[in-house]
Amino acid sequence: MEKEAMAYTKIDNNYVKCNLCPRSCVIKSGKRGVCRVRENRDGTLFTLIYGLTTAEAIDPIEKKPLFHFWPGSDTYSISTLSCTFACPWCQNWEISQASPGEVYAHELTPDKVIEKTIKSNSSSISYTYNEPLLWYEFIYDTSKLAKENKIHNILVTNGYITEGALSQLVDFIDAANVDIKGFTENFYRTYCKGDLESVLLATKLMKKRGIHIEVTNLIIPEINDSTDEIRQLSAWVRDNVGKDAPLHFSRFFPNYKMVDRPPTPFETLLKAKKIAEEEGLQYVYIGNVPGEGENTFCPNCKHILIRRMGFDVLKVDLAKGNTCPKCGFKINIVGNANARTFGRWFY
Ligand code: SF4
Repeated sequence: MEKEAMAYTKIDNNYVKCNLCPRSCVIKSGKRGVCRVRENRDGTLFTLIYGLTTAEAIDPIEKKPLFHFWPGSDTYSISTLSCTFACPWCQNWEISQASPGEVYAHELTPDKVIEKTIKSNSSSISYTYNEPLLWYEFIYDTSKLAKENKIHNILVTNGYITEGALSQLVDFIDAANVDIKGFTENFYRTYCKGDLESVLLATKLMKKRGIHIEVTNLIIPEINDSTDEIRQLSAWVRDNVGKDAPLHFSRFFPNYKMVDRPPTPFETLLKAKKIAEEEGLQYVYIGNVPGEGENTFCPNCKHILIRRMGFDVLKVDLAKGNTCPKCGFKINIVGNANARTFGRWFY
C-alpha cells in the first residue's frame, strides 16, 4: 500500500528532501530515493511499502538476538523489503536488496498484526529480517497500537536513522538489537554505503530514551576482525550503552556477494569475547555457534544463570528480581525469564 511518508521536507520546484535516514536524499518529482521505496509524486513523498509484508513468523526472541529481554518468550516477526545499506554479505539479500514488485509480498494492516500477535501468544512484535526503519510509517502506526494492547515492540536494526525521525518513534519501542557492523568509517563507507557516526548517534539516543539495547557485531575474516577494532567497539559499548549491555559476536558465513572467504574461525570469536570482557563488558555472547558462548553467567560469581542451545532456553536459574541465586548480584534482564525448548537449536 502507498501512503504519504512521514519525515520529509518539501523544497522548491516540487523537490523533496527525505529526513528518514542520514543519506538525506533530495528527490526530484517522479523519482525515488536510494532505498527505492520512497517516491516523490508532484512534491509529495510517498512510502511504497506501507503494510507490504515479505515474511511473518513466530520466532524465539533469542533469534533476534535478544538474550536479556523476556528470555524464553516468542515474538511475532514481520518484515518488508529493501535496506538503507548494501552489505555484500547480507543473509537476507533476496528481500533487503529488492524493490517493490520484485519479490512476493502481501499486505497487512496494523490491526491485523496485533490480532495475529495475540493469537500466536507472542508477547512482542519484532520488526526484523530486512532493515525495519524503512518501514517507518507502518511501524509507527503498528507499534503505537501494540503499546495500547500491552505488546512490546522490538527493532532489529542497522541503526541508520536520523535523530529527528528516531525521536518520534522511540516512545513506542521497548527493545532493539542494533547491528554495529564494524568500527571504522572506512568500513561503513566501503561495504555498507553508510556511516558509522550516524549509527552510534542513533544507538546512544535509543539508550538515552530507555530502550533495552543489545548489540550485534558480525565478525568477518580480514575485514573487521582486528584486535584494535574489536577493542574499540567493546569500549564504545561499555561507555555509551553500559558495561551490562549484552554484546553478541556473530559468526560470518559466506553469502550473497561475499563468498571469497571462509566462515569466521571459532578462535577469532573466542578472542573477541576475551577482548570485550577485558574491556569490562559483563555479558558477551558468541552467535551462530551453538554451545557454551550462548549461556548467561553471573558477572560476579560466574554461576550459570541461563543455559541455552541455539534458540532454545534449556534452563533458567534466577532468583526474585532477576538476581543471581548464589551471590545476589542484580542481572540486567528485562521481564521474566522462562525455559523454552522446541528443538529450535539450529541456525
Ligand atoms: S530513507 Fe534514506 S535512502 Fe530512502 S529516500 Fe529517505 S534518505 Fe533516501
